[in-house]
Amino acid sequence: MNTDYLAKFYKKTYTEKIDALVKAELLTELQADNLKSEGVDLGQEIGEHMIENYIGNYSLPLGLAMNFLIDDQETVIPMAIEEPSVIAAASFAAKIIGSAGGFTTVVSERMMIGQVTLKNVTEPSTAIKKIKASKQEILDRANEAHPSIVKRGGGAKELSVRLLESDPSENIPSFLVVHLHIDTQEAMGANIVNTMMEGIAPYIEALTGGTALLRILSNYATECIATATCTIPTHKLTSGQFSGEEVRDKVVEAAQVAWVDPYRAVTHNKGIMNGVDAVVVASGNDWRAIEAGVHAFAARSGQYRALSKWHKDEAGDLVGTLSLPLPIGTVGGSIGIHPAAKLSKILLQEPDAKRLESILVSVGLAQNFAALRALVTDGIQKGHMGLHARSLAISAGAKGEQIEQVAESLKHTSHMNLQTAKAILENLT
Ligand code: NDP
Repeated sequence: MNTDYLAKFYKKTYTEKIDALVKAELLTELQADNLKSEGVDLGQEIGEHMIENYIGNYSLPLGLAMNFLIDDQETVIPMAIEEPSVIAAASFAAKIIGSAGGFTTVVSERMMIGQVTLKNVTEPSTAIKKIKASKQEILDRANEAHPSIVKRGGGAKELSVRLLESDPSENIPSFLVVHLHIDTQEAMGANIVNTMMEGIAPYIEALTGGTALLRILSNYATECIATATCTIPTHKLTSGQFSGEEVRDKVVEAAQVAWVDPYRAVTHNKGIMNGVDAVVVASGNDWRAIEAGVHAFAARSGQYRALSKWHKDEAGDLVGTLSLPLPIGTVGGSIGIHPAAKLSKILLQEPDAKRLESILVSVGLAQNFAALRALVTDGIQKGHMGLHARSLAISAGAKGEQIEQVAESLKHTSHMNLQTAKAILENLT
């Protein structure tokens, strides 16, 4: 990839943007022509086969975040999102972080967890002993239920058992839960894991005398964790009248608040997920699965907390770290079907699942830095409302060149709302 052609990407027209992607060697001429002529929306035929009672598509804009340097690799990141300013903020943050060495990531082994949850186990301690003694038999049966993943080098690798104690105050009995730890290779693995869990349940019932109430994966993917770190010297943090040291210290304090205050933590983490979700959607992955797991992870200490941490290191630099459970895939689900997901894969240069995790967690950290930096300096509204002006202009009925004209005028008004946008448009026409 030659990113020289992507400089000032935001200033290019739509056609110039696509042409720049060809020059940068991210797209072939043919791919670019297809994109210009056909776009990336789902056709009716594909849509009808994807869900039930299909009546049409609900589109989101697909844009590109620029300037990302992730593990020394320049990366252009497709994001599907309706919220203005997210892509601009990610690109802005990535530029600062990129000029300071970029993002460094660590990705754990990608193990998914499947659960068989048993009720009515009369002798839990005996049942646990039997399950543990039959570990290999259970793993073998799980792998026999989905042999193709074993051929690919994955499969059920480990077993553990958890006894959930009864809670008489809520009239809840005890449950015995068998976990399988499963390597699903390049897939997110929901269907692979669920097939295995349904495959082993009868054997576990016979072993324990219990009844399998639930046989499904856990979306709390605590064995599929990606971590990104960045280090930013203070001279890169100066903003308006604020010195780099001031910005650094305030970012650290803002992150501390999000660590101790759940009300702030939810908003802090929402900012992180602005970026993560947009890439999860663009890549055709299951964003509900990622959202559910990430927020459980944020509450793993017993209190809902910030997902990221920021501190000052010995050199006085600002250091940010973000860890997320990211059970995503590069195959399966809609990934190979949705035209936008297929294009995203090309633009991301065909990442494997670990690399996609690295990209996702880096985007989350960039988004978090952009939000914190804005919050502790000018406030979030300055950049946000500038971009929101365009949405208001469109809502007011502006078309073509009118959109920029109305948006520009709106930025100079004291009440940036739909009524004002309509008044500006009326004056134009
Ligand atoms: P799929 O059911 O599409 O399965 C992926 C398949 O891809 C594998 O079974 C495998 O089939 C094939 N494959 C090809 N190459 C590879 C490779 N290198 N590594 C791994 N597999 C490969 O997808 P998932 O099992 O990943 O399930 C994801 C879907 O399940 C998503 O759509 C999700 O929304 C949905 N889902 C989610 C749930 C949840 O999150 N709770 C619950 C139920 C469904 P083969 O080896 O046979 O060729």
